[in-house]
Amino acid sequence: MTRLARREFDAVVVGGGLAGLAAAQRLAAHGRSVALVEKCGRLGGSSAMSGGWFALSGTALQRRAGVEDSDERFLADMVESGGGVADPALLRALVEGQAGAIAAIDRADAWTGELKVSAGMTRARAHLIRIDALLAHLQHEAVSAGAVLLPGLAAGGLVTEGARVVGVSSERGDLIGSSGVVLATGGFSRSRELIELFVPGQAAAMPYGGVGNTGDGLRMAWRLGAGLADIGHVAATYGQHPETTDDEHELLTANYLGAILVNERGERFADESASYKVLGSAVLGQPGGTAFQVFDSVVRARSRPGVPLSDMERLEELGHLVSAPTIRDLARELGVPAERLARTVAEYNESVAGRRDDAFGRLGLVNGTGSLVPVASAPFFAYAAVSAMTSTYGGLSVAPDGSVKRVDGSRIDGLYAAGEVVGGFHGASYMTGTALTKALVFGARVADAIAHG
Ligand SMILES: Cc1cc2nc3c(=O)[nH]c(=O)nc-3n(C[C@H](O)[C@H](O)[C@H](O)COP(=O)(O)OP(=O)(O)OC[C@H]3O[C@@H](n4cnc5c(N)ncnc54)[C@H](O)[C@@H]3O)c2cc1C
Repeated sequence: MTRLARREFDAVVVGGGLAGLAAAQRLAAHGRSVALVEKCGRLGGSSAMSGGWFALSGTALQRRAGVEDSDERFLADMVESGGGVADPALLRALVEGQAGAIAAIDRADAWTGELKVSAGMTRARAHLIRIDALLAHLQHEAVSAGAVLLPGLAAGGLVTEGARVVGVSSERGDLIGSSGVVLATGGFSRSRELIELFVPGQAAAMPYGGVGNTGDGLRMAWRLGAGLADIGHVAATYGQHPETTDDEHELLTANYLGAILVNERGERFADESASYKVLGSAVLGQPGGTAFQVFDSVVRARSRPGVPLSDMERLEELGHLVSAPTIRDLARELGVPAERLARTVAEYNESVAGRRDDAFGRLGLVNGTGSLVPVASAPFFAYAAVSAMTSTYGGLSVAPDGSVKRVDGSRIDGLYAAGEVVGGFHGASYMTGTALTKALVFGARVADAIAHG
């Protein structure tokens, strides 16, 4: 393997997903020399595979749609959805950093105009962004400003001088980042060992996300005594078809459009408006680890082609949506007891009509918002789905400027982290879109800290 011609930079970024590209772009824009190493042959990581939903408040799109939202409301929803466990200082930094993220999306011309309420939100705050356009534009800006991108090169470890981190080791020699090293290595969804270590109850979830996301950044920082946050709360996302490949995720949340969830016995088992992380854990406990999203033609008509999580046309094209003229026929197609499913649907419809309390306390479509609809208009549909470990939202302890903290709270000099490798933002659960927002905001934020440091 040839050694690198140039090995000394102001900063080195490890990982070429959204957080890493945002950091490299911003460092280069500050006039700092920067190298980014990416262990896979292509940049993108989980970011490139993602749905592209960003949680943002106070946007022009919200104003045009008449959505009354505010940074304070966003903050309060994150505190609430995280069960009060997340670090308020980090959440405030996230909210305050939105302007830079919005500017980056503007520059990339990556808005789609799609806006909705999703898990953990009390307002329509999930903005669909053309993630491919955003990643490509950040990459273009980074390279144009002089950043050196090195796909196909893994960082093997951190290089230190005394207690300070000054670079990373690689097969092609050490790369020195004299002002700082940014860990943007994503999560550990592809490491069975780490999933079993931290969240053994989630080990049956389908491994998903970037194939390079094996927790390398966590391990590198641990060796220097880094602390961890939220890691025991990591949970799989419910809604992925069991035959999904790495090429295209098949996440559907028809429950947020009005579907019910039933297990292989034809029984409901949860409030379907809960976060898909809460449902992820609930579904892991069901027979076969599977739940069917069952709905009627009214909900089917709410499908949004091309919109991740709501695109039923695409799943139908893939042959993964089942339909039948009656609920009993649907049950037979699914191999679910027909009488039981018919009774489950009848009981649910009674509660939607207000004639009985819902068995699981469901009051809305998603997170308490939206009006329930009965499962009543033929034809009927079902989508079989499992829980997938798409992202691991706990990780390294960081200060609000993104510098990595030791277990005792002191900072590790020269070491920063951004994106999914970081914990402290999501607490016990997860609001849709906060992983991508966190990656974009904190990628830039660590770059600012290094440039001004
Ligand atoms: C199917 C799916 C859908 C999702 N949808 C959404 C959504 O709509 N909204 C949302 O907010 N979140 C979503 N997420 C989660 C979100 O995509 C991630 O949390 C986010 O993209 C993480 O960004 P990142 O830059 O931290 O990591 P990544 O984009 O995963 O990038 C990390 C990179 O680091 C590289 N790397 C790892 N170790 C090394 C090493 N030793 N040396 C060099 N490189 C290394 C990896 O190969 C990878 O390319 C989704 C995830 C998936 C899988």
